[in-house]
Amino acid sequence: MSIEQGVLYVVATPLGNLGDLSPRAQETLAQVALIAAEDTRHSARLLHHFGIKTPLIALHEHNERERSAELIARLKAGDALALISDAGTPLISDPGYTLVRAAHAERLRVCPIPGPCALIAALSASGLPSDRFVFEGFLPARATARRTHLATLQHETRTLIFYEAPHRLQDSLSDLCAVFGTERQAVLARELTKIFETVRNDSLQGLCDFVHADPQQQKGECVILVHGAPVPLASEHDSETLLRALLTELPVKQAVRLAAAISGVKKNDLYELALRLHTRHNL
Ligand code: SAM
Repeated sequence: MSIEQGVLYVVATPLGNLGDLSPRAQETLAQVALIAAEDTRHSARLLHHFGIKTPLIALHEHNERERSAELIARLKAGDALALISDAGTPLISDPGYTLVRAAHAERLRVCPIPGPCALIAALSASGLPSDRFVFEGFLPARATARRTHLATLQHETRTLIFYEAPHRLQDSLSDLCAVFGTERQAVLARELTKIFETVRNDSLQGLCDFVHADPQQQKGECVILVHGAPVPLASEHDSETLLRALLTELPVKQAVRLAAAISGVKKNDLYELALRLHTRHNL
C-alpha cells in the first residue's frame, strides 16, 4: 500500500493489546511525514515497538487550535499526516475534532484507518441489544450533575454506553441503580484486550455487588453499558382515545388497523373495543 500526499489519515491504535494495530495502520504510520499524537512519549513507545521512525508532534486539548492551523498548512503543502490518540479511535472522547473539521473546511481528504474502539468492542461482546445504541461519553464527575443527567436518560429505549474512570465506577453504578432501578440489565466491560479483561453481564445491583466484592474490578479502564428502557406501549386509555378519534373518520376495520400500528396494542383487542364503542356510542 502506498499513501496519498496531502491526506490526513485518522488512525486507530490498540486499547492495550499491541496485536490489534492493523497492518494497514502500521504501513500508514510508517509512510506519513508526521504523526500528530495526544501524548508523544506514550505513542513513541508504540512506534518503537513496530520499528516506525516517523516524527511525532503533540496535539492535545490545550493546543489543538494552534496546532491544527500548522498541520493544515503542511497538508496543503502536500504532506501526508496521521492523527492518533493514546488508545483506540481518535476523536472518540479524544482530541482531533478541530483538526478534522479544519481539514474538511479546506476540502482536504480525511481518510479513516479503522480499528479498536472501546465502546464498539464492549458493545460487541455485551449481549445487550446492539441494533440501536447511544454513546454518552463520560458521565459528569460530580454526583448531583451525574444524577440529573442520568434522569434525562431514564426513558431512553436504546442501549446506553458510558465511559467511566475507575475511581468513579462504584459511585456511578450506585447512581445508575438509583435512577434506572436495581433490576435493569447492564454490562461492565473492563480492561478490554488486556490480561485482566472482564465482560460481566448482570443486573445493575449485581454489578454493584460484583465490583464492591472484588478490589481488582475497581481498577483499570472501563465501559458501562445499560439495557434501554422498555418500549412504552400505549395505555388502555390512550388506545381508546386514539380509536375513538379514528372511528369518527374511518370504518371500523381501517381504524383498528391504524390504531394497532400506532399504539402497539393487539388488533383483536382493539377490534373488540371498537365494536363496543360502535354499539355504545354509535361511532
Ligand atoms: N478513543 C478511545 C476509544 O476509541 O475507545 C477512548 C478514549 S477515552 C479518553 C478513555 C476511556 O475509554 C477510558 O476511560 C475507558 O472508559 C475507555 N477505554 C479505553 N480503553 C479501554 C479498555 N482497554 N477497556 C475498557 N475501556 C477502555
